[in-house]
Amino acid sequence: MEKIKMTTPLVEMDGDEMTRILWQMIKDELLIPFVDLKTEYYDLGLVEREKTKDQVTIDSANATKKYGVAVKCATITPNKQRVEEYNLTEMWKSPNGTIRAILDGTVFRAPILIDSIKPAVRNWKKPITIARHAYGDVYKSTEHRVEGPGKAELLFTGEDGTQFRETIYDFECGGVLQGQYNKDSSICSFARSCFQYAIDTKQDLWFATKDTISKKYDQTFKLTFQDIFDNEYKAKFDELGIEYFYTLIDDAVARVIRSEGGYIWACKNYDGDVMSDMVSTAFGSLAMMTSVLVSPDGNYEYEAAHGTVTRHYYRYLKGEDTSTNPMATIYAWSGALRKRGELDGLTELVDFADKLEEACIDTLNDGIMTKDLVGLVSEGYEAHAVNSIGFIKAIRERLEKKLA
Ligand code: NAP
Ligand code: MG
Repeated sequence: MEKIKMTTPLVEMDGDEMTRILWQMIKDELLIPFVDLKTEYYDLGLVEREKTKDQVTIDSANATKKYGVAVKCATITPNKQRVEEYNLTEMWKSPNGTIRAILDGTVFRAPILIDSIKPAVRNWKKPITIARHAYGDVYKSTEHRVEGPGKAELLFTGEDGTQFRETIYDFECGGVLQGQYNKDSSICSFARSCFQYAIDTKQDLWFATKDTISKKYDQTFKLTFQDIFDNEYKAKFDELGIEYFYTLIDDAVARVIRSEGGYIWACKNYDGDVMSDMVSTAFGSLAMMTSVLVSPDGNYEYEAAHGTVTRHYYRYLKGEDTSTNPMATIYAWSGALRKRGELDGLTELVDFADKLEEACIDTLNDGIMTKDLVGLVSEGYEAHAVNSIGFIKAIRERLEKKLA
């Protein structure tokens, strides 16, 4: 069989630990035999980040801006223990944070559904995609622990010296204090990324905040979304027959639980952090969650939602058999290859991405799974656990038949 051609390289960001092992298995078994794989390779493994003083992460993000599509393996975010383990000269920042800051995007996370694993919420039939604004609010806040009586004020001094000053609270005792911010530019990018993603995937978009209480802060998010929708996206939404709809966050939560899924739920940073864990857990597991960072100027970075699965890696190093679920990492590759195919007009490549995902689903529907999933299977379905390479080889068998 002749290999499927690519024209533009994918930006390939390799990573750490167990997911780095899976990365190579996926390439060897599911990609290289079928696709004339073109990538520009960046090693974001912690050893190389240390060697390059983290320049490699910055270079990989800039390459993503150049080529438009990247695929990323999970990476270690160093903490104190990792500084010792890897003998680091600095506690390098989270690569995801660095990449997001350069690409300025929104993270979209959607579950991969299979028949034998039923969502905890009975009426959910289709995936719910969470779109999380990945900038500002409580993640960039300044906090203060008030130890005794005193006055807390909000003070802003403009470049021209004009001031805004308002009392937050006259403390009669100890307490806590927090200052948060966001930027119009980031809120606009968030909105555009969400509208664009809704168009790309032909799904309704829901957005919710607490603007009845937060009359300036959350109100700005609400008005920005409405304004950008009316002026830039409404016509396209009408043409596709999809909807944009705003509601209060508490109302949204109730509606999400009663819904059958099949839409995008845009969330502010904190809401997205919390709700994406709720939604992914209710659908099954983090190992069955796809994740893509979309920037407003049309760059895409595909990854898995989970981490480097350290516990499994230490077992792997001891020579023990591991059954780590590669689904999310395979879908990062298929998502990136499909997008590359769409952008370059390569129907064969798009078709390959579809078939690769079908082969994964068929394998799971045949009851061949990694350990983490077997425990989630509903009564009446048969399933047995295999190790990671066994699972990948079972996918390969099915993929070969589909491509023949
Ligand atoms: P994790 O790697 O997601 O793993 C936590 C646990 O979840 C695992 O021990 C395993 O449970 C289960 N799990 C996660 N993914 C799985 C998979 N594909 N197949 C089977 N089980 C899976 O989170 P962590 O242990 O908190 O973090 C490990 C490292 O990853 C850290 O250094 C962190 O900085 C990094 N991290 C990176 C990213 C990213 O690059 N996007 C995201 C999060 C964390 P059992 O052990 O019970 O089987
Ligand atoms: Mg979280």
